[in-house]
Amino acid sequence: MEYIKSKIRDVYDFPTKGIVFKDLTTVFKDPRALHIIGWDLSQLYRDKGVTKVVGIESRGFIGGSILAFELGAGFVPCRKPGKLPADTIREEYDKEYGKDVIEIHRDAITPDDIVVIHDDVLATGGTMAAAYRLVKSLNPKQIYINFIIELSALGGRKALPADVDVSSLIVY
Ligand code: AMP
Repeated sequence: MEYIKSKIRDVYDFPTKGIVFKDLTTVFKDPRALHIIGWDLSQLYRDKGVTKVVGIESRGFIGGSILAFELGAGFVPCRKPGKLPADTIREEYDKEYGKDVIEIHRDAITPDDIVVIHDDVLATGGTMAAAYRLVKSLNPKQIYINFIIELSALGGRKALPADVDVSSLIVY
């Protein structure tokens, strides 16, 4: 884990002043760190019978795909509005300024699925909470929530349902 931590790049004042952005491109470009991330993420769910990993656009696509591959599960993208080509369902959520929307294909998850929803970073939790509501509305057997990094000072866990298993590889 120390090796992965050493590869995370803090970018100050991105995308706006006062934000310290946890940049994972420096982790993903490092072959050893990429390998460790895939292995460590998958160890959290080895015995859970996971059938689908949902990755949140866009940084959640990278870790989510690796996790799905490691678990022998399928990968499902949760995307910004207007990007998915077939029949979708959508959820609105509050951002700092105004609202945002995410979508998923209506047929992406079925009631016999066991799902991990993955994003790279938990900040305020608004994005993941909306993704959870989307996936939940498709009624899978079980939902887990997963992040590579959790920024605990921002209290994002409070935005997520208390009865759901939430795991983060690295907590700051
Ligand atoms: P949230 O506030 O939890 O809804 O986060 C929104 C999205 O922004 C997440 O998908 C994160 O990938 C990203 N994000 C928010 N804050 C940071 C940060 N400090 N560093 C890196 N990514 C962030």
